[in-house]
This record gives sequence, structure tokens and C-alpha cells, in this order.
Amino acid sequence: MVRRATIRRIARERMEILFEKAIKIHEREPELAMRYVQIARRIGMKTRVRIPRKYRRLVCRGCKQFVHPGCTLRVRVKPGGQPHITYTCLRCGHITRIPIKKTD
Ligand SMILES: [Zn+2]
Repeated sequence: MVRRATIRRIARERMEILFEKAIKIHEREPELAMRYVQIARRIGMKTRVRIPRKYRRLVCRGCKQFVHPGCTLRVRVKPGGQPHITYTCLRCGHITRIPIKKTD
């Protein structure tokens, strides 16, 4: 019997390794990067462990594929009445808007 905490820890470690590898190789081997992210997502689903926060933005909410700023992800800062950052997936066109909080 393996403790749940142990499973979660191992799952997180593996996801981290997969994402780090994906980040490293995605420019040369985008298909492999996508594969790594698929595996990481599968680990997450199987163990019901969420993708670590710092990597979550690297997975498109629309097509569930690996996206990377400057490559398959467009990042734009939109100033104005409600300033926000938009993340556009260049694969499927999914847009995520994140409001910027005013600090005054
Ligand atoms: Zn997408």
C-alpha cells in the first residue's frame, strides 16, 4: 500500500521533469514536446494531481497542447480601462485574458 502523499509527490516530480524537458526541446522537436506534455497531463489525470502552477500556462486551455511564449503562444499586454494580459494560442486561437490589478 503506497501512501497517497507519496503518489502525489512522485506525480509532481514526473510532471516537472516532463515539462522541463518539453521547454528545452520544443524548438527543435515540437512533436516530442507535445508528447511529453500529453504524458504529464495523463499522469495528472490518473493521480488527480494538478499540473504545477508554473507550468499550467504552458498548456493551452483550448487544444490542451504545449504552448510556449514567442513560439506557439502570443502574449500581449492590453492597457486601458481594464488592463489585462492576453495569451493567444497560435495553434487553435484560444484566448486567455488575465486582468492586471491596479496598484495605486
Ligand atoms: Zn490551443
